[in-house]
Amino acid sequence: MRYQAREVDIDGRVRLVMENALTARDRVGVQDFVLLENYNSEAAFIENLRRRFRENLIYTYIGSVLVSMNPYKELEIYSKAQMERYRGVSFYEISPHIYALSDNTYRAMRTERKDQCILISGESGAGKTEASKKILLYYAVTCPAKDHMDTLGDRLLQSNPVLEAFGNAKTFRNDNSSRFGKYMDVQFDFKGAPVGGHIVNYLLEKSRVVHQNHGERNFHVFYQLLEGGEDELIKRLNLDRNPQTYNYLVKGNCPRVSSISDKNNWKTVKNAFSVIDFTEDEVQILLDIIASILHLGNTQFGEGEDGETHITTEEPIMSLEKLLGVDGSALKEALTHRKLTAKDEEMISPLNFEQAMSARDALAKAVYGRTFTWLVEKINQSLAVKEEIYQSGKASTVIGLLDIYGFEVLQNNSFEQFCINYCNEKLQQLFIELTLRSEQEEYETEGITWEPVTYFDNKIICDLIEEKHKGIISILDEECLRPGERCDISFLETLEDSLGCHPHFVTHKLANGKTRRIMNRDEFRLLHYAGEVNYNVDGFLDKNNDSLNRNLKEVMCQSENKILRHCFPREEIFDQKRPEMAATQFKNSLMKLKEILMSKEPSYVRCIKPNDCKQPGKFDEVLIRHQVKYLGLMENLRVRRAGFAYRRRFEAFLQRYKPLCPETWPNWHGPLADGVSTLVNHLSYKPEEYKLGRSKIFIRLPKTLFNTEDALEAK
Ligand code: ADP
Ligand code: MG
Repeated sequence: MRYQAREVDIDGRVRLVMENALTARDRVGVQDFVLLENYNSEAAFIENLRRRFRENLIYTYIGSVLVSMNPYKELEIYSKAQMERYRGVSFYEISPHIYALSDNTYRAMRTERKDQCILISGESGAGKTEASKKILLYYAVTCPAKDHMDTLGDRLLQSNPVLEAFGNAKTFRNDNSSRFGKYMDVQFDFKGAPVGGHIVNYLLEKSRVVHQNHGERNFHVFYQLLEGGEDELIKRLNLDRNPQTYNYLVKGNCPRVSSISDKNNWKTVKNAFSVIDFTEDEVQILLDIIASILHLGNTQFGEGEDGETHITTEEPIMSLEKLLGVDGSALKEALTHRKLTAKDEEMISPLNFEQAMSARDALAKAVYGRTFTWLVEKINQSLAVKEEIYQSGKASTVIGLLDIYGFEVLQNNSFEQFCINYCNEKLQQLFIELTLRSEQEEYETEGITWEPVTYFDNKIICDLIEEKHKGIISILDEECLRPGERCDISFLETLEDSLGCHPHFVTHKLANGKTRRIMNRDEFRLLHYAGEVNYNVDGFLDKNNDSLNRNLKEVMCQSENKILRHCFPREEIFDQKRPEMAATQFKNSLMKLKEILMSKEPSYVRCIKPNDCKQPGKFDEVLIRHQVKYLGLMENLRVRRAGFAYRRRFEAFLQRYKPLCPETWPNWHGPLADGVSTLVNHLSYKPEEYKLGRSKIFIRLPKTLFNTEDALEAK
């Protein structure tokens, strides 16, 4: 039998197609995996993704979770007209879209007056940052603007190019890879207008400032400045336009990237600076710092016959002196000597060649890292809720957006990958806690029967990394603090002694004293939920310690550059308390993040990368299957199918829908459950479509309910 089907394709064209309904489904798949007949089959899942991807349908739901495939090409689906289509329309009656999720989250915030958050996950290059930008754009364009706040939307949007210039870089996996984690709150007033924003940044990959792998670049800003900076500026900064002149830019041997126009991006960044309230003076001193880092990288050392290290290049030091307003000879001294305080006595000891090089690099990393933090603070000032709104208590609810580095496995994995992957373990744990486990627990406490779903709980791996006294981070900290000879290898040995028997930890040593051939002697392997990763311990201690010689700090805090003086406060030099080590700091910031997220109503975007060559149209099944597995999508689907998509507490449900039924309107006086029963019966829900728990109503498929929503809006 042939049907005439009215079909709305993703770019909004309505087509009348004559085809068998089954053929249509064959062609474009289902828009919600919940509708798959064979929902337990991974093959069916992948096949559905493949069909939709082929038709440029990059979005698919699993209930309220949005699965997004990176198309690696521009699709005409993000226009303003598209935004209008998704405004106020129910999730299930229109093709899946990131705007639908944005809109739903917004409406949930408005109707329930509860803070929301959108968690975006996926591996590097899967499209997380693009997704977060689209969500932000949706709010900036569609939300009502407050009269005198109409620039806030712009500022929210323009904070992106600035942060990306300083925090993103070309990597092997992604030409515009975020090298920091980002959580952003958008604050709304009681009328639903955005009134402020706040950004928290997580662990910038500072090591990139001084070293890049082959085919990768340093942070974009360096190339943008060299390529786009006005002649006058370049001259003032004593720079040469050729990136290959700079030691800190040559390591990856990749000064240009075909997909990136550094020159145009520079213009965008400069414009963004002015939108987010940077004064001309601030931009100038910020660029003084960026240029200084390049000069610092060109500072070379020589070893005298007496073994003393000295600086062999005058020019870079002179540039630093001029640009940062620091004392050149003090800087030279600080780059080649270390100041120690022992028993209240100050001692100066010379550094050897290697130590001087690493002191220089440590300085470059510290300056860049702290400047980045300053940048975020400065952006936050520009996004802050204005005092009068704050005072009036009208800034009420927030939507948080989390765009944080995805699981990463490189050829050579170091401390940074260790932290990034640990972060992903934590987020996975949160996902499990919030969706899978809480789902099951809720049915249990509400006394509703359903088939339990088994899932892998990654707590054991989180514990392995973060447990007090016993976990890898604790052991690393202890090793850094231990007096006497210590090195990365001694750290590895301590790990082996304490964790050798852990089922998720492997080194070259076998329990019987023999060695495992496939592992190097300086590696340990973690069996992450997402797969195995070998970490090379080289550099772990230094990166965790992340310390800067005191005399270098002294030179920096005497600088005439205002940003630097802010970044290197004088008190720090006299502070006897040892600051937290890098990994512990990171761990604590993740704990805080988890608390923030747990206090909000979460939505999820799970991003999938279709292939490793950044190409449109290419569906790499092996790669995709791997992601489906470690994003836990099959488990997610099973839970969704087994359960109920919609649930509300009796009071909230009655409150919201009582106008729809004469017996419950204007107030229901009997027991809440009876009221809810009366109401759903009146709305002609069939008994198999819903269940009443102890305190909540559960509805199987939300479609019926959204129809009700529409009825309510129309009333
Ligand atoms: P991630 O943040 O997950 O590492 P990005 O969001 O930076 O990945 O995406 C990597 C690249 O993929 C982008 O620079 C862009 O070229 C492409 N891309 C991602 N999402 C989309 C999309 N929705 N439409 C078009 N291109 C996209
Ligand atoms: Mg990103």
